[in-house]
Amino acid sequence: MDFEFTQEEKMFRESLRDLLEREFAPIVDEMDRKGPLTREEAIEVMQKFKKIGIGIDPEGSRELIGNPVIFAIFAEEVGGVWPSILPLFGMGAIPAMFIPLASDDVKSRLIPRLESGEFIGCFAETEPEAGCDTSNLKTTAVLEGDYYVINGSKTWISNATIADTAFVAAINATTGAETFFIVEKEISPWESNELHHIGWRASATGEMFFEDCKVPKENEMGALMGEALKLGPKMKEVLPVSDGFIKLLNTMSPITALLTTPRAGMGLVAVGIAQAALNASINYAKERKQFGKPIGKFQLIQEMLYEMSVLTETARLLGYKAIDAIVKGDPDARRLSSMAKVYGAEAAVKATYNAIQIHGGMGLSDEMPLERYFRDARMMTIPDGTSEIMKLVTGYTLLGKGFSAYA
Ligand SMILES: Cc1cc2nc3c(=O)[nH]c(=O)nc-3n(C[C@H](O)[C@H](O)[C@H](O)COP(=O)(O)OP(=O)(O)OC[C@H]3O[C@@H](n4cnc5c(N)ncnc54)[C@H](O)[C@@H]3O)c2cc1C
Repeated sequence: MDFEFTQEEKMFRESLRDLLEREFAPIVDEMDRKGPLTREEAIEVMQKFKKIGIGIDPEGSRELIGNPVIFAIFAEEVGGVWPSILPLFGMGAIPAMFIPLASDDVKSRLIPRLESGEFIGCFAETEPEAGCDTSNLKTTAVLEGDYYVINGSKTWISNATIADTAFVAAINATTGAETFFIVEKEISPWESNELHHIGWRASATGEMFFEDCKVPKENEMGALMGEALKLGPKMKEVLPVSDGFIKLLNTMSPITALLTTPRAGMGLVAVGIAQAALNASINYAKERKQFGKPIGKFQLIQEMLYEMSVLTETARLLGYKAIDAIVKGDPDARRLSSMAKVYGAEAAVKATYNAIQIHGGMGLSDEMPLERYFRDARMMTIPDGTSEIMKLVTGYTLLGKGFSAYA
């Protein structure tokens, strides 16, 4: 069994840590207090990552999205410093990865924007009446000549208010099936407004409204996938997909395969938050004195540290085990990534709760980042699959066909 990163992976982690420490750690608390990033601020963030080669452009995403281990390191390290900025990469990468399959017209506008770090994307599936139950979508797409006309609304969409390009789910009125569309705001405008939440305060989340929104028919997922299939073995040169992912497609639907990496990634974001809370708590337990000695000498404090440590370590093992299954194209990736998402999120909630307790009154104060860790951790149990749905996916993978509790 080998959990050692390769030399290349270690170098990636070092340059990422250096960037996070230098550029983001000093500003994170102030920026988070200000609320959702503006589009200009989000672009500035993307461009800082671009300087060390991290991006969602076709070349950068082959490394960041197409290499599950690199994605896992990115999730854990950014999670430990500023989880609010992750949707710029995670959700933003979803429309971005389909752009190389789009028409020359779309590519000519969007590829330069991706390359300069000025592309902000979003993935818009959730609706007011379709949260966990995505089979209940009400947004429709009607084919009229060379265009689909989209009508409907979306809610709780990361980057909704700052995105220039969305990957929008709708029911194809002809087939009755769910499909997705690349929608460029400049060409096919939509309206949006902001929603606020307990944590990830700098992440711009919102509602989106599509009213007679005309989208070229080439932007529909079926047409885009048709272009992908034409590529045959060259698919890997154009799309950010790993060999493991291609193997997963033999045993599960493309969307199920696609979800394994972000779910394992969310588990590792939670690990990053829990580790940051544990590190702060160890330092504080050594420094803070009560009853004439450091609080770290009290057994009840040590028990809390033990609990934080074992939760963080277990969540990390599960997260990387899921990533390993994705790398190998092992169908067990579905079960492992669902468990990594639930376990990591719940572990981070408990670890950050303990961190506040260890810090006493200072833990509750916004002079220290503990309350932000707690708020950010609390976010982890809902988006990208709630804990309940992740448990039911696990149950289904254990029990097999005929045992889905959520369909
Ligand atoms: C900050 C944030 C960012 C998000 N970003 C995006 C995004 O970029 N794109 C996007 O499309 N969506 C996004 N979402 C939406 C997210 O995926 C949904 O919030 C999530 O799927 C839950 O849907 P809901 O909020 O409507 O809860 P509901 O579906 O109403 O669920 C309410 C409760 O019931 C439980 N429940 C539901 N069904 C079952 C069942 N069958 N068995 C047991 N329990 C059940 C849930 O687990 C939950 O506890 C985001 C959400 C948040 C909060």
